[in-house]
Amino acid sequence: MKLSAETRTENIDWLQNNQLDLLVIGGGITGAGIALHASAKKMAVGLIEMQDFAAGTSSRSTKLVHGGLRYLKNFEVELVANVARERAIIHHNAPHIVQPRKMLLPVYDEQDASFTDFSAEIALQLYDQLGEVSDEWRYSLIPKEEVRKEAPGIKEEGLIKGGLYLDYLNDDARLTISILKTAHQQGAKIANYVKAVGYLYDEENRINGVKVADKETGETFSIYARVVVNATGPWSDETRHMQKNRQESRMLPTKGVHFVVDHSRLPVKRTIYTDTGLQDHRMLFIIPRNGKTYFGTTDTPYEGDLVDPKITKEDVTYLLEAINMRFPGANLTLADIETGWSGLRPLIQPEDAKDPSDISREHEIFISEEGLVTIGGGKLTDYRLMAEDTLKTIESLLDKK
Ligand SMILES: Cc1cc2nc3c(=O)[nH]c(=O)nc-3n(C[C@H](O)[C@H](O)[C@H](O)COP(=O)(O)OP(=O)(O)OC[C@H]3O[C@@H](n4cnc5c(N)ncnc54)[C@H](O)[C@@H]3O)c2cc1C
Repeated sequence: MKLSAETRTENIDWLQNNQLDLLVIGGGITGAGIALHASAKKMAVGLIEMQDFAAGTSSRSTKLVHGGLRYLKNFEVELVANVARERAIIHHNAPHIVQPRKMLLPVYDEQDASFTDFSAEIALQLYDQLGEVSDEWRYSLIPKEEVRKEAPGIKEEGLIKGGLYLDYLNDDARLTISILKTAHQQGAKIANYVKAVGYLYDEENRINGVKVADKETGETFSIYARVVVNATGPWSDETRHMQKNRQESRMLPTKGVHFVVDHSRLPVKRTIYTDTGLQDHRMLFIIPRNGKTYFGTTDTPYEGDLVDPKITKEDVTYLLEAINMRFPGANLTLADIETGWSGLRPLIQPEDAKDPSDISREHEIFISEEGLVTIGGGKLTDYRLMAEDTLKTIESLLDKK
């Protein structure tokens, strides 16, 4: 039966009356990927989501499946290699959602540029090699005259050339929901608007289930599971702090904002990935889609409401300054912004990063004394790798049990 309101009621009933191998808290891409992998391994798996599926960060991204070209400026080869190869696999699994495109990296001779004339070519070459990109999609270089045609209004001062390279367009929420639907087909018991509100413990003080609240009916009930995984992205600390023992905070959510303007106001021909030009080591994506162009993103440490992070005046000022710096010909103002969205990156507190953009997007799995498995960090593009690693941890815990 298709995932629906009907199956929600049935699943909630099942979850109350059976013991699971695994309960996943969080119905974003991370939780969805884990539920899919676990159900493929024929585990008895449940997943609960307190809002609608993908309502958190997994519907608020830049909507790309990408390997992180910019990490090649610091030669983070291993990080990029793993993720760059994932792109083709995700495309293969969901070709109707994740689609290859040639994207444009304009190269400038300017202070603090991420890529120089020389390093841009090395990075693009390496990006292709690490991603095992086929001949058809290999990078190419274009002269600045071509860049101007691809990106009308782009800053001309200092422009040297452009690189066209492969990355993938995505529909983040749709991908997440498709994965959940497949997990459901494979037997996972999935329910939205069910919130984890506490843990259940065995006599050895180990977590053996979750107390939950059905937000539709207001009822609370218990779900028993041999392993509980916290895949709540920016909420990871909140979910960890519900345990009996005090937990150190590990998350450092940063806010990213995108704005949408009419395509006629920023008539770029393809996705552009560029430095902001503000010498702040930050990069911007500018993406034409369905008659509109959206651009972003900011990367600012965030404290506050996790459900609906607000877009502030500072966000507007910053992004307008950045886009007008890169596209002086566009001269965008607040009046051009039709809509926007903001999301929180579930980043893990680093020992030593100076700038939020420097914090690695790598994922980490940690297990509490009480047995709660938390998966934090990562990107949408590496959801399969995150699921694989989490499953290894879960299987070793289940073996011990
Ligand atoms: C601005 C921005 C742009 C990005 N762009 C890209 C990109 O282009 N490509 C890419 O690969 N990555 C991108 N990322 C990263 C990527 O979007 C995230 O890493 C990913 O979506 C995180 O997914 P998640 O499932 O871990 O978290 P979420 O999607 O936030 O899911 C966590 C879920 O847990 C639920 N939850 C929380 N507490 C509870 C509870 N107590 N009970 C039940 N449910 C609960 C929440 O409601 C939420 O739905 C971007 C991130 C941001 C912020």
